[in-house]
Amino acid sequence: MNSLAKLDRSFVWHPFTQMRGWLRREPIVIVSGQRAVLRDIRGREYLDANSSIWTNLHGHNHPTLNAAIRRQLKKIAHSSALGLANEPASLLAQQLVEAADGICDLRFKIYDSRRRSARKSEIGSHQLRKVFFSDDGSTALEVALKLAYECTRRARGRKSRPRFLSLEGAYHGDTVGAVALGHIDLFHRAYGGLLFKTDTMMSPFCYRCPFNRAKPERADAREYRKCNWECIGRVEQKFGAQRENPYAAFVFEPLMQGAAGMIPQPDGWLKRVSEIARGQGALLIADEVMTGFCRTGAAPVSNQPTAQAGQRTGDRRDARPALFACQRENVEPDFLCLAKGLTGGYLPMAATLTTQNVFDAFLGEYDEFKTFFHGHSYTGNQLGAAAGLASLEILQSEKSAAARRELQNVLCDELKSLWRLPNAGDIRQVGLIAGIELVRDWRTRKPFELREQAGIRVCEAMARRGVLTRPVGNVIVLMPPYCTTPAQARRMVRVLRESIREIFGAREI
Ligand code: PMP
Repeated sequence: MNSLAKLDRSFVWHPFTQMRGWLRREPIVIVSGQRAVLRDIRGREYLDANSSIWTNLHGHNHPTLNAAIRRQLKKIAHSSALGLANEPASLLAQQLVEAADGICDLRFKIYDSRRRSARKSEIGSHQLRKVFFSDDGSTALEVALKLAYECTRRARGRKSRPRFLSLEGAYHGDTVGAVALGHIDLFHRAYGGLLFKTDTMMSPFCYRCPFNRAKPERADAREYRKCNWECIGRVEQKFGAQRENPYAAFVFEPLMQGAAGMIPQPDGWLKRVSEIARGQGALLIADEVMTGFCRTGAAPVSNQPTAQAGQRTGDRRDARPALFACQRENVEPDFLCLAKGLTGGYLPMAATLTTQNVFDAFLGEYDEFKTFFHGHSYTGNQLGAAAGLASLEILQSEKSAAARRELQNVLCDELKSLWRLPNAGDIRQVGLIAGIELVRDWRTRKPFELREQAGIRVCEAMARRGVLTRPVGNVIVLMPPYCTTPAQARRMVRVLRESIREIFGAREI
């Protein structure tokens, strides 16, 4: 075993990892990366099929990002945002607000303040206007949570006890507030005693939905579901039952829930549910930590709910691309939480965008003590902000847009080949995110027990073949960097297919 692997085993405790299993084998030690490829200490190369846990957008060692960070480094790496402003953080805040603006599609216009003020009069109070920086997805959610809580108490009175609603299987991070919003027993149950209570709402998981009367087919369950949108009825009931003390906020991942198991929402669900939530006075907290920055691909042609399945188009979309998933459903949240891809996957930085209304609720003279007493040492870090600006610039380039379109289409075509595997229960793609749910037999949808480690074993087999990703339970995630070539994307899917066959030994159907 090489010396760095030994050092790791001696001193490092890895996240979400059973360290006993870890200590039994030699870890892969990454030493460099180039575009979609990671290289380890032994010179072996791997495709980064989950974009280094969903963070990396443009590939590793990107010249534009590298140059932006170097340029900033020559000036200063960090000065505090407590009491001081800085150039890259101010510019990034402006660009994020512009980018989140409803009219801005991918070619969002930046630095055009005349256009912004011209729009002021048409803009409702839900327009995102202010940016609070922090460090990670979890802290972006903590900020939204605390702001929504305090805002609601200021509006409803100090004695009010604001309650939050989030989705079944929700995951919003690992800090205590974010854990309270989460509903994954495996991760969260142990800490119940530390948490405040939040409510959970049915998530529109067509593949395992009790209201879906359709027999399993060899297609994404959203496409052949047979239902009458009973899930929306459940949402109405949920809000209806809370009229005495209406929910302060509804927290959700738009279009696809990640750590819940890559659960996609049928077109139109989010729009409808957010209207219900708003109608009942709830603030909307959109967690776009995973879905932000073009991950969810191009906009659908229509997002009206229909009683039955739509056209079987897979996720091949040629319409307008959207920077944020909420824009694909024309949903305007009161809080937009961003992290992971914000810096292109280079540095830990997060942002919570919010409205003028929320901001104003904290305005006052010092001795009114309305200040938002919250912040982190590295808030508004210059290196992170410089990377964020460079990443937005790359995202806007026609070259990157074209590459994303092509990658989304290649993935869509390639994933079809997995339907031949009896252990592929559901294959769900939203833009540049794909989740492949492994089951015992597609005809019964019977899941593997978690202790069988079906997902982990398949990912280990993939790693042996030079493709790295991590499962979410029994769901294999493919979320490649946008610079992944069609040939590399094909290889990712081919390796996944071979690995599933190796682990389960099943013949193709
Ligand atoms: N929200 C979502 C949707 C996430 O996927 C994650 C991380 N996987 C988080 C929040 C927490 O982000 P972080 O790990 O950066 O704290």
